[in-house]
Amino acid sequence: MKTLLPDKIDVLFINGHVATMVDNALSIIKKAALAVTGETISWVGKEKSLPQNFKTRCQKIIDCNKGWILPGFVDCHTHLVWAGSRSQEFEMRLNGASYEEISKNGGGILSTVKSTRNASKNDLFILASKRVEALLKQGITSLEIKSGYGLDLETELKILDVIRRLDENFPLHIDATFLGVHALPPEYQHNPDGYIDLVTQAMLPAVKAQGIATAVDVFCETIGFTLPQTKKVFETAKDLGFNIKLHAEQLSNSNGAALASEFNALSCDHLEYLSLSGAKKMAQHNVAAVLLPGAFYFLKETQKPPVDIFRNLKIPMAVSTDLNPGSSPVHSMTLILNMACMLFDMTCEEALLGATINGAKALGLEHSKGSIEAGKDADLVVWDIDTPEDLCYLVGLTPINTIMIKGNIHYTT
Ligand SMILES: [Zn+2]
Repeated sequence: MKTLLPDKIDVLFINGHVATMVDNALSIIKKAALAVTGETISWVGKEKSLPQNFKTRCQKIIDCNKGWILPGFVDCHTHLVWAGSRSQEFEMRLNGASYEEISKNGGGILSTVKSTRNASKNDLFILASKRVEALLKQGITSLEIKSGYGLDLETELKILDVIRRLDENFPLHIDATFLGVHALPPEYQHNPDGYIDLVTQAMLPAVKAQGIATAVDVFCETIGFTLPQTKKVFETAKDLGFNIKLHAEQLSNSNGAALASEFNALSCDHLEYLSLSGAKKMAQHNVAAVLLPGAFYFLKETQKPPVDIFRNLKIPMAVSTDLNPGSSPVHSMTLILNMACMLFDMTCEEALLGATINGAKALGLEHSKGSIEAGKDADLVVWDIDTPEDLCYLVGLTPINTIMIKGNIHYTT
């Protein structure tokens, strides 16, 4: 434990317990205290070890009332900027239509693309703001949002600009990912390679020039894009200095994870059909596995991601809401924690690590987010729970007392 002694303390949390999430475990400190200086955590340890003058020197004391302090959740995979509703499609699916059938018949993603293209930037911002607000109230303090419901230059830039506005208007840390290669737009239905040329020659350079995304993602799948097309996008993205992410092996094994690993991707996401050789490539290149039980649940999938292989190969497992209108309209991280346990057989500890430090790894933010250590950003949530496992176990409950982001309190009961 670092014992950096700060000159000044702005906020001191006392009378609580801390799950720090360091060393790949909950790493619990019972009867803990935690000091915040400016935007960062300046001290954490046993309350009885608190230096004498801390309480008198601090600006504000927060009594945790025997609750638990955890790092704010890092939701590392969402598609939350969209317009239109897919609730009718949900009803269609309940009447027997499959995700693939809906997609091949111009429904699915393309219906959201149509609505998103027609929406004004302001309308999109208002719609997405409600979703960000909901996630914030779930204890999510860092968030990744992908574009991908535009599929033309103008709308993809519009979505990324909305994400930038969300970042400016909300206290959460928000990273934007360009997912122009999400589905084939109607204009290119018979010319997928032409669309890939548009992406590599026009869209990626424009996104880079505007500086409005840090990563590039692709939907590599039988109903998405092929391995050679994915590779072409990654080559351009890498040349332009983007981080790489991939929707891989969700509905079939396309060997996408191995390809993304060769590009030193931050993460491969979904991974239900990942092969052992693909997993070994991920381990070799230190790629995080982002598991999305919300989509698995919503699509009534049966093939589970190979959690045992991730454990054996020590691949960090992140979990995320995958908030999107088609396959995971899930606005709750605590529900995702329960799903990770019940559907993917993860332990509560693994699920909680997945929503914190491993989510941060999937975004390349592990040096500043995702765990409670002196020197890291003070992104913290105080929960009114008896044990950290309650967050996975108490389905439907979000017992938050206080949310702090970069040293500022944004929510308190
Ligand atoms: Zn996704």
